[in-house]
Amino acid sequence: DSFAQLNLGDQLQRNIARSGYKEPTPVQKWALPIICAGKDIMACAQTGSGKTAAFVLPMINIINNSGPSSSEFSSTQTPDAMVITPTRELAMQIHKETSKFAFSTMCQAQLAYGGAAVMHQRSCIRRGCNIVIGTPGRLKQFVNDGTIGLQNIKFFVLDEADRMLDMGFQSDIDFFARAPGMPDKTRRQTLLFSATFPEEVQQIAKTFLKDNYQFLT
Ligand code: AMP
Repeated sequence: DSFAQLNLGDQLQRNIARSGYKEPTPVQKWALPIICAGKDIMACAQTGSGKTAAFVLPMINIINNSGPSSSEFSSTQTPDAMVITPTRELAMQIHKETSKFAFSTMCQAQLAYGGAAVMHQRSCIRRGCNIVIGTPGRLKQFVNDGTIGLQNIKFFVLDEADRMLDMGFQSDIDFFARAPGMPDKTRRQTLLFSATFPEEVQQIAKTFLKDNYQFLT
């Protein structure tokens, strides 16, 4: 019943019901109201906790309410949201979950992961991209070659941050802190998920999150 309390749009509520979600998971109960209120978060949430819906639902809701920033068939897409995750498999899972909840709304999600042909991903993105989900290196490449413009980013999600660092993505992540067009952290919402919080992850929190972020262990 807490999904109904969240003031999510009608189509989004129908998509939640259709997906069979009856009750929010603990991380969703905590994070959904905070994210809907516009706050930054750092959260310890594992795969399987339901963290994907926790960040995807508020994102789709805001995009649907304010109208997406990026138009269809433009060669540079300027998504409202970017989700960075360590692996292609995670990117595909998040994309699947996002597309399910964005069904029949004006919100389009696209993928950008490494180890696959650039051309196909680029042409998908150019068809319309309000949410882009991908791995650090390929996302950076699409920003550098002008496929993706960052100026309309309202949501920036760093998923499994500790794992991204273990995989050597530190410099690709740092790139986004000062990437051309990237709204300052005070002008976007940033959500950081990590299983562990070593010094390096705390450094990322310091760089990317507003000072008053909420922390869930
Ligand atoms: P995640 O941790 O986001 O990867 O989600 C793990 C699995 O739980 C996915 O298959 C989701 O579709 C499912 N799930 C997430 N939230 C809920 C919920 N509130 N009710 C039922 N299933 C859920």
